[in-house]
Amino acid sequence: MSNYHIKHLEEYYQVYRKSVREPEAFWEEIAEEHFLWRKKWDKVLEWDFSKPEIKWFEGAKLNITENCIDRHLATRGDKTAILFEPNNPEEGAEHITYKQLYHRVNQFANVLKDHGIKKGDRVCIYVPMIPELAISILACARIGAIHSVVFAGFSSKALATRINDSDCKMLITADGSYRGAKTIDLKGIVDEALESCPGINTVLVAKRINSDITMKEGRDKWLQPLLDAASNECAAEVMDAEDPLFILYTSGSTGKPKGMVHTIAGYMVYTAYTFKNAFQYRENDVYWCTADIGWITGHSYIVYGPLANGATTVLYEGVPSYPDFGRFWDIVDKHKVNQFYTAPTAIRALAKQGVELVEKYDLSSLKVLGSVGEPINEEAWHWYNDNVGKNKSPIIDSWWQTETGGIMITPIPYVTPTKPTYATLPFIGIQPCIMNEKGEELKGRQVEGRMCIKFPWPSIARTIWGNHQRYKDTYFSTYENMYFTGDGALRDEVGYYRITGRVDDVIIVSGHNLGTAPIEDAVNEHPAVAESAIVGFPHPIKGSALYGYITLKDAGESRMHDNLRNEINQLIADRIGPIAKLDKIQFTNGLPKTRSGKIMRRILRKIAEKDTSNLGDTSTLLNPEVVQDIMDKSL
Ligand code: ATP
Ligand code: MG
Repeated sequence: MSNYHIKHLEEYYQVYRKSVREPEAFWEEIAEEHFLWRKKWDKVLEWDFSKPEIKWFEGAKLNITENCIDRHLATRGDKTAILFEPNNPEEGAEHITYKQLYHRVNQFANVLKDHGIKKGDRVCIYVPMIPELAISILACARIGAIHSVVFAGFSSKALATRINDSDCKMLITADGSYRGAKTIDLKGIVDEALESCPGINTVLVAKRINSDITMKEGRDKWLQPLLDAASNECAAEVMDAEDPLFILYTSGSTGKPKGMVHTIAGYMVYTAYTFKNAFQYRENDVYWCTADIGWITGHSYIVYGPLANGATTVLYEGVPSYPDFGRFWDIVDKHKVNQFYTAPTAIRALAKQGVELVEKYDLSSLKVLGSVGEPINEEAWHWYNDNVGKNKSPIIDSWWQTETGGIMITPIPYVTPTKPTYATLPFIGIQPCIMNEKGEELKGRQVEGRMCIKFPWPSIARTIWGNHQRYKDTYFSTYENMYFTGDGALRDEVGYYRITGRVDDVIIVSGHNLGTAPIEDAVNEHPAVAESAIVGFPHPIKGSALYGYITLKDAGESRMHDNLRNEINQLIADRIGPIAKLDKIQFTNGLPKTRSGKIMRRILRKIAEKDTSNLGDTSTLLNPEVVQDIMDKSL
């Protein structure tokens, strides 16, 4: 038996050792015993990071939807696959069983085929968090079309850029979407975007908000009548292991978004295996990831990973604040959620609200809490642990990227002892290393530098759509024979990893390299602080000095700002050292964020450097008004 489900620390170390000593044999066993193949592979792995070229399970034939749906029908046909929780709680949840999912995906697949979509064609999916989003993804996979999901909160310009970059033929969307008390005119955004997308000849429109929209003759079609007319059986296209499954653009925190290409077999094996272990999923658990499916977290850990394990996965349409800031806990209580996976930005926003809203609900079903997307600061970690987890649900601080496809560094709950702000140990099969700027590997314990990965894992992205050279330059050219993550990290005395922030954000003060995460962590310890972002600005003596943008929990904080500044700097001096004290502190009403909720330090850096003529690509920016306000009050 292969070690598909790891249950204690000793077993982790034993399986980990096996996975790095004999990676091919290890992954072959996992793939063989836990998935459905039409034909087995000829070779487990072929790779060359210098080209770069990576192939897993070459020669194998499969369809990922047979693994995510068909094979569960015999034993889990009536089990809920997708548990849809609508924006408005009064509307009531919808339970979609595996059998229903099978029929709905097949119907949708037939509609795609009827509209000329074939294997290899690109289909853009710009759909809010409703069941049709997951179903359209799976329908593409059923017939071998490559899906490119664009988060349905993006602007028309960002949508158009992504449609054209991946040359999509069809667009799937909805008339509109609900986001808390607001409705969004999605179709209006689509119409504007499509003015500059000549390649799109069909638009399928799901009805969600029943708004009055214009349908362009010959191009736009209502989805439901087409589904109703379609057969609910559709043979799965037999695909090659290395055929592309999807294109997904990175969040755009650092610059122009990259269309990462993931291929079928390796992605399936790795997301399924990590899902099972990182969340310790057991058969009747209800699992909920609050991310949007428009991000990699949603692709891997709302759709593919859970469904490949026959899990029940919650799909929530709304926002954390509607009807009030207790909504997440209401949903956990109502559906008896066992695993809950969210982002630090959401935790910080909820922690600002006080604990009464958490205490109102019964959260005793929770067994595992997860965090992903940004470093989680210590204060937020404790708030999450104390109030949501009641000190009994381990927090998995999982580090990974769009490019990695699946979780790379994470505690395994009930297996790995956790430590706040540390992602802890590499997942099975992952070989991280820390490099210095000269290209030398820093071996041993208590070292800090740039995080790289030495050996391929099954779900590594294979290329950037249409730009293999950029793929090579970005990830494989900094260090020879290594995948470079772009993130800084340290390894502590027991071998645990802590992500210290993006390498682009590292600030050199008087010759010392300072990562942003540990300083922000110290600042956020201050009871008055809600969130902070640290950047560098030129300084005549130190080279660079530190500029802190800080949002207070209570905007009308009565204490004198100068006192606060001193207290914050004192905290930094105590926690890190006087070298990391902030030269400038600006109190802000908010911080610029990506639409996935991550702080965009590159914009703050430009403002601190007083170079605001060109802020770079801001199409992924969530809150431009905050940027203007920060610029107006810049120190
Ligand atoms: P872009 O690559 O376009 O700049 P992005 O890096 O934000 O955008 P994603 O792939 O969504 O796009 O995010 C991956 C990054 O998020 C990681 O490289 C890391 O910087 C950060 N990250 C994710 N999870 C964690 C975590 N648990 N701890 C610390 N940082 C994390
Ligand atoms: Mg990135």
